[in-house]
Amino acid sequence: MAVQKEARVAHLVDLSGTTRILELEPAEPLDFVGGQYLIVNSGIVLPDGKLAKRAYTILSSDARQERVVMAVRRLDGPGSAWMCTRTVGDQLPFSGPWGKFLADDATPRRTLVLATDTGITAALGLIAGRAFEPQRAHATLVWLVEDGYFLSDAFVGAALCSGVTYRRHPLPRVGHPERLGEAQRIAGSLGGFDRVFLAGDGAVVHPLREQLFPAARVECYFNNPGKKSA
Ligand SMILES: Cc1cc2nc3c(=O)[nH]c(=O)nc-3n(C[C@H](O)[C@H](O)[C@H](O)COP(=O)(O)OP(=O)(O)OC[C@H]3O[C@@H](n4cnc5c(N)ncnc54)[C@H](O)[C@@H]3O)c2cc1C
Repeated sequence: MAVQKEARVAHLVDLSGTTRILELEPAEPLDFVGGQYLIVNSGIVLPDGKLAKRAYTILSSDARQERVVMAVRRLDGPGSAWMCTRTVGDQLPFSGPWGKFLADDATPRRTLVLATDTGITAALGLIAGRAFEPQRAHATLVWLVEDGYFLSDAFVGAALCSGVTYRRHPLPRVGHPERLGEAQRIAGSLGGFDRVFLAGDGAVVHPLREQLFPAARVECYFNNPGKKSA
């Protein structure tokens, strides 16, 4: 059973009505590495009797463990609404860190990190991690996202470590019939990489792995074909 831990909400910034940055101070050292996430327990009991526990990725560098940063996109569900209504000083129960969306060994490789939607947080956390440092000069971050959906280019640029090439391409909204085709068109034009990381919408990243990047490491945030929502 996962060990329950707590972090104090230390600082909040609402970038828009639907996007919030949270800085958390864990009660004990997290010992996380870039690309990992926490599972936050909102304490909300769902109609099926389960607790609404949701995963949120640490986007700040693992060089700093005592205060970590997350970005949350508010949706219609209970978890993101709970995250977006915390106040400074609140205690946030969680388990973790979890996850295997991690950098490889230190051998430099031409690396593509492709994220859709909120999956950008996994991309930023991975790239900011100390283990990814040897890859940065050879890395390209591509973010496929609806205009104005989440973080700004200025935020991503500031969070991104130097050396990484960054491009954002607009994608039709989640569920739009032309969304996958557009993602396939963009991803199909990206060649020459030794290593690929994919994060975000499972209805996009899984087909991209099957069709274009069979060895890619994947972090699926939603539309996960193998999972029910908790
Ligand atoms: C490993 C991992 C890391 C994650 N990291 C982050 C993060 O850093 N920031 C963040 O905001 N979210 C992140 N998520 C998503 C997050 O865990 C929740 O799924 C999300 O906040 C919705 O929870 P909810 O309770 O508000 O809505 P729910 O009731 O759980 O979901 C409502 C509906 O929205 C869909 N949905 C979930 N996420 C999205 C999305 N981004 N865009 C469109 N539809 C979506 C769900 O499939 C569902 O149909 C992560 C998910 C995983 C698995």
